[in-house]
Amino acid sequence: MFFLVCMTCGRTCDDLSVASCPYDGGVLDVRYDSDGFPLQPQLPGIWRYAARLPLTDAKHIISLGEGDTALLPSAQLGPDIGLPRLYFKNEGLNPTGSYKDRIASVGITYLRQLGREAWAATSSGNAGASLAAYGARAAVDGYLFTLERAPRAKIAQILAYDPRVMSVKRLGYDPIAEQATWANIAALCDAKEWLMLITARSNSPQAMEGAKTIAYEVSQQMNGEAPDVVYVPVGGGGLLSSIWKGFKEWRRAGKIARLPRMVAVQPMGCDPITQAWQAGRPVEPLDDCTSAVSGIILTSPPDGELVLNDLRESDGWARSIPDEVTYQAQAELASYEGLFVEPAAAVVWAAIKADRQSGRLKGDETVVGILTGIGFKDSAAVQKMTDDKSLPMIEASEILHISPN
Ligand SMILES: [Zn+2]
Repeated sequence: MFFLVCMTCGRTCDDLSVASCPYDGGVLDVRYDSDGFPLQPQLPGIWRYAARLPLTDAKHIISLGEGDTALLPSAQLGPDIGLPRLYFKNEGLNPTGSYKDRIASVGITYLRQLGREAWAATSSGNAGASLAAYGARAAVDGYLFTLERAPRAKIAQILAYDPRVMSVKRLGYDPIAEQATWANIAALCDAKEWLMLITARSNSPQAMEGAKTIAYEVSQQMNGEAPDVVYVPVGGGGLLSSIWKGFKEWRRAGKIARLPRMVAVQPMGCDPITQAWQAGRPVEPLDDCTSAVSGIILTSPPDGELVLNDLRESDGWARSIPDEVTYQAQAELASYEGLFVEPAAAVVWAAIKADRQSGRLKGDETVVGILTGIGFKDSAAVQKMTDDKSLPMIEASEILHISPN
């Protein structure tokens, strides 16, 4: 069984449906009666870890086969920079193409468990697609409020699952609009008894438990070894914080002997967490955002303080990457590794390369980069990425005369 403990005041919360501490608004941590990890391979997707997920009865499970994504050794890029033990966790292999499916599976399952009939959320694309897909499978209504500048091509995937989608003015670059959106969705959900599913530990601690299964899988895929360093793209911060929680739980269960260092990677044009980390101060909301790396551009990251704490606890660090370097990294992952990822995922390769070149990463370290989503998501960006590639028109008879590269 699971229970909720406030990370601020330490009180246990009896109402399992609340999103934050009823006494002081603190972030709730989902905890479990035992540190044990009985795996349940008969359950689908990430639910083989059901003993460590907020589930009361397996009949509520909504799964599309999420999780169990490949952990791939780098074929060329790692060896080329003197980092032979570099691995990529390919989260683009999830059912809708991103790690958010892990969170949506737990969130929609949790919604059914509570007997709610609809979900409401904000998203720049990936979480919306995941919630819409899992919501469709569960036959519940969904209301999605997207960022003003969310790529239309990403929204197209969401619309295919047919939830109600509305774009909110200034959401995504104006902290006042962001905070008002979250507050009003919470009020709407309270009034209608819907479930608010925002992919942040400070808003949806129960659903976010799904993301920590990435850490379990990485540890299992490395045969019980923990990596030395794990690189995570960071927007709101919930993914990094959840993965760190997963590694700590896995170690408490005696399955790994030590913990990795965590690295938060942000886009340079929108990096409130990196700025706070480097200045040694709390996270302050930014007034504007000049990065276009969809998925990790939040001016007011809901789990920012959790990330700072996790970086300190794990002896990790934060770094930011300019957008043009990110696009270059995206192209390199595709052409040297066969991994076509979205720009938000490519930041990790850019950061790993920079940290290896500066000597921060040692050549004998085992490094894992979390590639959060697949490259097909934003078809307009795909078009742009390949605009300068030539596509000659030839006669069939010329095929015999082409020369190898
Ligand atoms: Zn509290």
